[in-house]
Amino acid sequence: MAFIPYSRQSITEDDIAAVTAVLRSEFLTQGAEVPRFEASFAALHGVAHAVAVSNATAGLHIACLALGIGPGSRVWTSPNSFLASANCALYCGATIDFVDIDPATRNLSVAALQRKLEQAERRGTLPQLLIPVDFAGLPADLREMRALADRYGFRILEDASHATGASYLGQPVGSAWADASVFSFHAVKIVTTAEGGLVTTRDAQLAERLRLLRSHGMTRERSQMDFEPEGPWVYEQQLLGYNYRMTEMQAALGSSQLKRLPQMQAQRAALAERYDGLLARLPLRLPARTADRRSAWHLYVVELDAQRTRATRAAVFQALREAQIGVNVHYIPIHTQPHYQRLGFKPGDFPDAEAYYAGAISLPLFPDMRTDEQDHVVATLEQALRA
Ligand SMILES: *Cc1c(COP(=O)(O)O)cnc(C)c1O
Repeated sequence: MAFIPYSRQSITEDDIAAVTAVLRSEFLTQGAEVPRFEASFAALHGVAHAVAVSNATAGLHIACLALGIGPGSRVWTSPNSFLASANCALYCGATIDFVDIDPATRNLSVAALQRKLEQAERRGTLPQLLIPVDFAGLPADLREMRALADRYGFRILEDASHATGASYLGQPVGSAWADASVFSFHAVKIVTTAEGGLVTTRDAQLAERLRLLRSHGMTRERSQMDFEPEGPWVYEQQLLGYNYRMTEMQAALGSSQLKRLPQMQAQRAALAERYDGLLARLPLRLPARTADRRSAWHLYVVELDAQRTRATRAAVFQALREAQIGVNVHYIPIHTQPHYQRLGFKPGDFPDAEAYYAGAISLPLFPDMRTDEQDHVVATLEQALRA
């Protein structure tokens, strides 16, 4: 059987036609495709404002800035995430800290957050911003986090990079609870623009600041200017921004992909459910399911149960790779990275994230995965676990 990656983009002839149409058009950047993509994404996620950016890392950066994060600010996130969830705070000169995970959901633990907030209140070191991550596409406990945010006075920036199309308490991710939510359209994510990202918010002023920060902090809108413009050529720089714009080709691809989101979502959910059934009797811990939220199923992560198998994660990983199965590991706890250890973190600081990581393997999961490919993954995994 051919190599089975852990994730793979789904590209149709319609997607290709959408991109080539842009290439034949007048505008390759700053045309009508980006606003159209933003409007489709906002409508689909039931949220007022959507700001497309060059990638989710850029989105996290300018969302931190727009939420007032700077030198002296304290930002907390989950150690079980991609580096960018923490790096964005460092870009702004803020200090970063982590809150350990809930071993069942693998998301930032509300109980651990509550304890850490009580301690921080006594010490006068409360955070200004919390960045929960919807790990593997499973929405974080945002209702409880919102209650704590209102009590302790911090903002919430949801890293929804995995969670395009997921829902929580009956509402689409990115539409409620968080001050802003960031999505990624990297090729391995739920929908793709090759590289790309987007920030949603209900707050019109925040959206305006995000648009300024995305494009050099400059505006041609008279209502945003300090001075009466001498003519229509005048632009003003209002703050220090960046070039974090998405191109027209990317936006056209994104709009085309979004049309298939419900279908791709259903394919992912069906494969995840099939994994649940096929893996139920193996010595593994499977992804959590709760009735109040629907995962986007970006990843299907199993954990080796050391009580029930003597196989090591390294051996199982190697056996699967040797069988041409592109397993992966999400994530090495961020605080154990050398850069973060140099900031003072050390192994042992967040034991639940570390224990989770020690046994975690991400199995292949993507919309066009065939059931015979899935059967091959399961059979190979079962054999490796028997070793
Ligand atoms: C992919 C990812 C990012 C970064 O996304 P890019 O679009 O590649 O910049 C950030 N956070 C998480 C949790 C991710 O998985």
